[in-house]
Amino acid sequence: MKDETWSNPELAWALRSYITDSGRLLMVVLDDQGCIEDANVHFRARFAGFSRVSGEPLAHFLLSQSGDSLMIESGFPQNTPVAHILNSVGGGEFYVFHAYPMGERTLMIGELPEAAENDIIERMGHLAREMSRLVRDLRKTNRELAEANELNQRLARADGLTGIANRRYFMERLRTSITHARSRQHKLSLLMIDLDHFKKVNDRFGHAGGDAVLLAFAALLQGRSRAGDLPGRLGGEEFAVYLFDANLPTAIEVAERLRIQIAELRPLDADYRVTASFGVTELIAGDSSESLLQRADDLLYRAKTEGRNRVIAAPA
Ligand code: GH3
Ligand code: MG
Ligand code: MG
Repeated sequence: MKDETWSNPELAWALRSYITDSGRLLMVVLDDQGCIEDANVHFRARFAGFSRVSGEPLAHFLLSQSGDSLMIESGFPQNTPVAHILNSVGGGEFYVFHAYPMGERTLMIGELPEAAENDIIERMGHLAREMSRLVRDLRKTNRELAEANELNQRLARADGLTGIANRRYFMERLRTSITHARSRQHKLSLLMIDLDHFKKVNDRFGHAGGDAVLLAFAALLQGRSRAGDLPGRLGGEEFAVYLFDANLPTAIEVAERLRIQIAELRPLDADYRVTASFGVTELIAGDSSESLLQRADDLLYRAKTEGRNRVIAAPA
């Protein structure tokens, strides 16, 4: 196409209005003999069922209204949009087209949309808008579902009262950490903690008072945890913490510090002191999460029988 064709204002207007009105512009380029050199996809779709049309006479597809071959040079005034009724050969039907010669060999054909087609175009527009609205809604719903899922997962892992890891999640993480400790040849230590004479706390301050102590103790555990450590509430007034990359002496130090800190807590009354007993041990070859926990529990039991408010630690 020659550039001056596009700068012709009437033609440019006509092309624009066709593209806007019907969205369909057929284009065919002819050679000197009136055979098709090139045709766009709309032309091929309209007249040839998408088949190749190059080399075929234009008259195989389109005739003038009177049934003669279309002569661009003689039939159309140069660079001026004109309405022509053209005869489509295939279906033998008449269609109303506007045809524009562009230069000597290119014919642009704007097909006038029929009322029914206009309706379809409009309905398609509605559908497209509706679809994009549905997609937007779907994205929003998916986002909300993902958020709810995440919240659910967090709730499923957390102890209902204190918000720290519950027993199930603690054991799950302990198993993973044991695997990591083994593969990276790190130490891992475990503290089992049970509050002393907790029943008396409930007896004296009521269940809510007991809960306040549990909350305060959980906050203490949470506050001192490094990344890689995990405190959990195993049930009742029984807690555990595993320390990743910590050997037994380190774990004993941590337990001793916690033992002193809990005795300094005053969650209820200025004169009421809460104490706890600790069993502390270290991961050894052949341990499972259960055997590690069991050993810590046995040590905790010893701490209880030996007078409470103390740390009993042992290697295997
Ligand atoms: P010990 O020093 O031997 O551990 O004595 P203890 O009284 O702490 O132990 P025991 O197992 O006899 O009693 C534990 C108490 O903890 C009994 C139970 O009512 C109380 N308890 C368990 N879970 C909760 C809870 O969620 N909230 C409150 N307030 N109390 C709880
Ligand atoms: Mg207790
Ligand atoms: Mg207990």
